[in-house]
Amino acid sequence: MKITVVYDNEVREKGLRADWGFSCLVEAEGMPQILFDTGTSGDILLHNMQLLGINTNVIGIIVISHDHFDHTGGLSHILEKNKSAAIYVPASFSKHIPGRNVTPVKEPIPICDNVYTTGQLKGIEQSLVLNTRSGIVLVVGCSHPGVGEIIDAASSYGKVNGIIGGFHEFRDLDRLHGLSLICPCHCTQHAAEIKRRFPEQCLECGAGLVLEL
Ligand SMILES: [Zn+2]
Ligand SMILES: [Zn+2]
Repeated sequence: MKITVVYDNEVREKGLRADWGFSCLVEAEGMPQILFDTGTSGDILLHNMQLLGINTNVIGIIVISHDHFDHTGGLSHILEKNKSAAIYVPASFSKHIPGRNVTPVKEPIPICDNVYTTGQLKGIEQSLVLNTRSGIVLVVGCSHPGVGEIIDAASSYGKVNGIIGGFHEFRDLDRLHGLSLICPCHCTQHAAEIKRRFPEQCLECGAGLVLEL
């Protein structure tokens, strides 16, 4: 499975634009491309996608983690270009998307082969659970329900091995013990502390980062 960070507060590749927000693309052979979150600005999202060679029309599934502007901002831009993607939003999502195949998510459900949602946690946010060759890897938006809670919820799918995305103000670092991949992105306030504690497991996030798992 391949994860490409499309939108982040930092960049890893020249030419890409950094901005407050998060979005990434999840791909694997024989699976529809999944866009997870859409950043703040549709223009920046489309700019970064174009530079990364991502075709908006090929995206088969769009998953929105939660209803905050820095994750939903580019959604309308994508929907203008892509008319057919299935959309998964948390049940608390406020916007109506008329004429589209939208699933409001409450419970943990499969999204496609080897990809699941944790379900909406604490009434606000869902995360992606990827069953990769490197084990279970989580893709999170802002982790408002708490990183520990998300890991607990995802553990019903197997032992969690990795996590990538925004950790917000999470600092109960013991909860990351035993993970082999930790990639704090976007809104993670204690990223420096996490890197100090887990230097071997930590990966520097940024738009353009590609993980092959
Ligand atoms: Zn948020
Ligand atoms: Zn955020």
